[in-house]
Amino acid sequence: MTILKFGGTSVQNAEAIRNVISIVETRKGKRIVVVSAVAGVTNKLVNIINSLNAENLHQALTYSDELLEKHLNIAKELNLKSDVFEFIKNKFIELQNLLNALDVLGEVSPKSKDMILSYGELLSSFLIYNAFLKAKKYVSLIDIRTVLKTDSNYTEANVNFKETKKNAENIINSALQQNDIIITQGFIASNAQGFTTTLGRGGSDYSASIIASVLKAEKLEIWTDVDGILTSDPRIVKETLLIRELSYTEASELAFFGAKVLHPKTIYPAVKEEIPVWVLNTFNPFKSGTKIVSKTSTKKMIKAIAFRKGTIVINISSNRMLGAYGFLSSVFEIFKKYETSVDLVTTSEVSISLTIDDTKNLDLIVKELKKFSTVEVQKKQAIISAIGEGIKNTSGIASRFFNVLKGINISMVSLGASEVNLSIVVSEKDVEKALSLLHNEFFGNLKSDDVFQKLN
Ligand code: ADP
Ligand code: ASP
Ligand code: MG
Repeated sequence: MTILKFGGTSVQNAEAIRNVISIVETRKGKRIVVVSAVAGVTNKLVNIINSLNAENLHQALTYSDELLEKHLNIAKELNLKSDVFEFIKNKFIELQNLLNALDVLGEVSPKSKDMILSYGELLSSFLIYNAFLKAKKYVSLIDIRTVLKTDSNYTEANVNFKETKKNAENIINSALQQNDIIITQGFIASNAQGFTTTLGRGGSDYSASIIASVLKAEKLEIWTDVDGILTSDPRIVKETLLIRELSYTEASELAFFGAKVLHPKTIYPAVKEEIPVWVLNTFNPFKSGTKIVSKTSTKKMIKAIAFRKGTIVINISSNRMLGAYGFLSSVFEIFKKYETSVDLVTTSEVSISLTIDDTKNLDLIVKELKKFSTVEVQKKQAIISAIGEGIKNTSGIASRFFNVLKGINISMVSLGASEVNLSIVVSEKDVEKALSLLHNEFFGNLKSDDVFQKLN
């Protein structure tokens, strides 16, 4: 069994959807096709939510009309049957009724938010399902909310793997007895009461990986709009190279430290069942892509540089009221209390610097820290991470790193906590420059070999 996940740009219009059909056709055996919303749709649904929050129902309804048009146009270009148009129109009547009701209530709860966000994937999967039928490919459509179960942490729900596995074995396996190909949605799920939840922005990759893991698929393919995982973000760095192979650890660190190409949680379910993950280009399907496996056969070295903006650095110095023993644990207790996860940490006996990117409880955290320490907060910071197995033990990497960044102020360094990651913190405004300098230093002179492939 192969799971194929197609992202928003991969299903952005009729031509892309036809392309998806031909890619799925090149694969053999049982296939589960997991799709994202059409490109731009989830962002517009977020705009609808923001408009409602700003008490601008008119704007929200205008956006909803634009989305209706967009989906009808794709259906038209795909030459689909009239009942598909009816279905789409009805879905939007339903959405507009919901928007009107929420406007009366005067608030959009996280629960309603997920309800609104789910329209993107529900519509795209319906279009794609019908495009397959139109091409005389016999496929089934499954509402993944009947399978993928989560808790009620709306907008970032946590998966109940046990329930999901049970449902997948019943629902998906029996549908696979009818047809070899199943179309379903990424990103959305439901809680025990059946209410719609979502897995967080970009979560379709994670959905696909969950399905692959509970059904023990042979392979997970993430189809996107670039040739695979690249040495850095191609929107910022020119001349990136394709990475042919990564380990699970390298890929998950990369995703966690900002490489948007994979949702941070994607790798974890695949690791459990040792499912190989491929990242491939929908618009260049014969390229080899990136293969992610438990152990790489290629050289251990820096493989990529990622970044994550929106980081906050908190420098905390003990005023010695607690003595050296109590200090660190008191600091972390506060972050635990406010459910704020800490990403990078450097410590000494009396001071600690750490980064967070969740600002929800920042003021409360600082207030409590100030009871026993001096606190300094630096906003608009970014983490830049070099990733690759063996980084820690490759001599000279750190010195090359700091040499090339000589003119840039580095406010934190984290080296050695992990075998695969060297991270620094710089001001957000320096990210582009630092990234280009580092990329040039480590990848500037590389040619195609068994680790990297030059892009043309
Ligand atoms: P999809 O809609 O297919 O899920 P995303 O937009 O979420 O696609 O992710 C793909 C994008 O990630 C690419 O177009 C690219 O701009 C960006 N990206 C950032 N870092 C990397 C990287 N290291 N390798 C590849 N793509 C990256
Ligand atoms: N459509 C969702 C988003 O844009 C999920 C995804 O594309 O992965 O965040
Ligand atoms: Mg994505």
